[in-house]
Amino acid sequence: MPSRILVTGGSGFIGSAVVRHIIQNTTHLVANLDKLTYAGNLESLASVNASARYCFYHVDICDSGALDLVFAEFQPTAVMHLAAESHVDRSIDGPSDFIQTNIVGTYSLLEATRRYWSGLSVTEKSAFRFHHISTDEVYGDLEGTDDLFTETTPYSPSSPYSASKASSDHLVRAWQRTYGLPVLVTNCSNNYGPYHFPEKLVPHVILNALAGEPLPVYGDGSQIRDWLYVEDHARALVEVLTKGTVGETYNIGGHNEKRNLEVVEAICELLDELVPLEVDRNQARSYKELITFVKDRPGHDRRYAIDASKIERELGWVPQKTFETGLRKTVQWYLDNRQWWQRVLSGDYRLGRLGSDL
Ligand code: NAD
Repeated sequence: MPSRILVTGGSGFIGSAVVRHIIQNTTHLVANLDKLTYAGNLESLASVNASARYCFYHVDICDSGALDLVFAEFQPTAVMHLAAESHVDRSIDGPSDFIQTNIVGTYSLLEATRRYWSGLSVTEKSAFRFHHISTDEVYGDLEGTDDLFTETTPYSPSSPYSASKASSDHLVRAWQRTYGLPVLVTNCSNNYGPYHFPEKLVPHVILNALAGEPLPVYGDGSQIRDWLYVEDHARALVEVLTKGTVGETYNIGGHNEKRNLEVVEAICELLDELVPLEVDRNQARSYKELITFVKDRPGHDRRYAIDASKIERELGWVPQKTFETGLRKTVQWYLDNRQWWQRVLSGDYRLGRLGSDL
């Protein structure tokens, strides 16, 4: 029997990849529940919009009454919870939305889920899943060069964003211990790929380079992140949802530790090949000339790296993209899909907001 999956935040970067993956590669039904903040873009779902297995609810996860209506109407067999405020810099400038959506919103979604779940039959109750999608940033940062985050690494978040995600992880686990809600938690490293909002490092660098603008790098660019192609993450999430053991946590990562400066330079090298700059006085030019070092972010974590051996061993998931193949695909996507990001930059993507408002 196909599952009926309620995806929160399905219009965001990772959520839309999850929705596209489920509609295109499985027989499951999907309801996308999204508030459509600045980060939500229905144009990222154009390829699945016409599917009879897809529907959209324009709802805030903090709105308990609206959540009850969605649960009653859609009758999900699983929830995948991705809705969140997700940008660290924004959380430093204004933490309030992060506390509201990531903590209070997760609480109100857990309670709506529990109300609905309590009314299911015994068999439906045990088959139900609440999958909470979180980040490796809850673990804080790593000092040693060989250390890796495992599922048992103690939490030590540094930013308002990661602290709010850590809080939501604790709430989800408490709802299992206290009420028996069948939960799964995943903590993933930095994602990159198509449909990424231009404020994030990879698309920001691609689009600034194409515009001939400076490519800002925090501090000396030596911060290390573990990069995962977004479609590999979407596939991992569906594996965990369908095959994961209730109550377990799975770390998801790409085995691609790169310094931020290396990432920026790799993008420049791809652009040098794909859209070369004009030769100036017989001198070949590179997009790397645009790299500019800027004042570091306060509390900036130095290194994140994931030990993904548990999901590989227990569920047989491995990333299909290397950093080189994934980054090439990503840069090519931004070159081929100018309309998508030009409408984001102009704000026009916020005009076409159709769906069932509750
Ligand atoms: P995103 O910012 O691109 O998308 C977030 C989505 O949530 C948007 O569609 C937005 O409209 C929606 N949303 C925000 N507040 C809402 C609310 N109150 N009610 C309903 N919808 C709301 O984020 P993303 O990068 O796709 O991340 C998705 C999830 O994955 C987040 O929970 C994030 O913490 C986690 N995560 C992200 C990364 C990454 O590298 N981007 C890595 C690991 C984990």
